[in-house]
Amino acid sequence: MHVCVVIPFHNESGNIKALFEALVPVLDSEFDSHRIICVDDGSKDDTYSQLKVAKAGYPELHLVKLSRNFGKDNALSAGLRQAHGDAVLIMDADLQHPASVIPELVAALKQGVDIAYGVRRSRDTDGPLRRYLSRSFYNLFSSISDVKIPANAGDFRLLSRRAYEALNALPENNRFMKGLYAWIGFSTMAVEFDVPERHSGTSQWSLRRLSRYAWDGIVSFSSAPLRVSAWVGTFIAVVSAAYALYVFVTTLVFGRDLPGFATLATAVFFLGGLQLLSIGILGEYVARIFDETKRRPSYIIEQTDDD
Ligand code: UDP
Ligand code: MG
Repeated sequence: MHVCVVIPFHNESGNIKALFEALVPVLDSEFDSHRIICVDDGSKDDTYSQLKVAKAGYPELHLVKLSRNFGKDNALSAGLRQAHGDAVLIMDADLQHPASVIPELVAALKQGVDIAYGVRRSRDTDGPLRRYLSRSFYNLFSSISDVKIPANAGDFRLLSRRAYEALNALPENNRFMKGLYAWIGFSTMAVEFDVPERHSGTSQWSLRRLSRYAWDGIVSFSSAPLRVSAWVGTFIAVVSAAYALYVFVTTLVFGRDLPGFATLATAVFFLGGLQLLSIGILGEYVARIFDETKRRPSYIIEQTDDD
């Protein structure tokens, strides 16, 4: 079996040496042949030159440099499109995806599974807030979207040829990979593993970036937010009609009383807020339509080591 390994690098120069030292022996024993596609996602440090140095020792490296930081999902898409062979292995550059798990992934693929993915056994390395938020995200996503994404599964995956070719055939440029892996279907299998601490450097994912990412994922895989605003609108319309009837009847029975200013003001502000919120949600979808219709690529390759 020939495998292409796709690894995104963003400011990972401190991990490069240790990564290949751990990875290459495992690849040698598990696969007939391999190629390692390293995508430099606009690193500000010397990642790319370090990768070139590494290539002297590991000729199986194929280096791809993006023209700026496009984000992990886009970097992965760039790598996947360069892939060929019987299978693709996707993993992180920071040694948080231990090479020792690869034999289990390979075993799954040999049983006929199309996507074998790593699931973190525990989230001890994350703080309680992060754990809570990520759990809520997976619950919310599964309940409002047609595709189910498994909780705690990341980008540590082994994909069969037809699985990665299906991913490569998807034309959209907003590439929420966790959703796309699930969307393409095929048979999947989870393999549990323990996530070690980052070998060196710090995580690029701040809480703010993660929330942005979660919202992006939800909006690109579900129209539930639109439906919620429609429901709320309907509910308020029904309540208003009932209230109108009540006012009409009490006016007939008890005569005209002074209308309350507080009620009026509250209703105006509340409805105004709700309308802006709904327009905002609508805007999120329009913005995505706008993004897709521009038909810009999701990444630009500045150079590869063939250049
Ligand atoms: N990464 C990337 N582009 C980015 C951010 C991250 O290619 O904009 C890469 C990074 O180099 C690493 C992987 O994505 O190989 C996972 O990143 P990180 O360790 O920051 O994420 P975490 O492990 O905290 O989820
Ligand atoms: Mg990491």
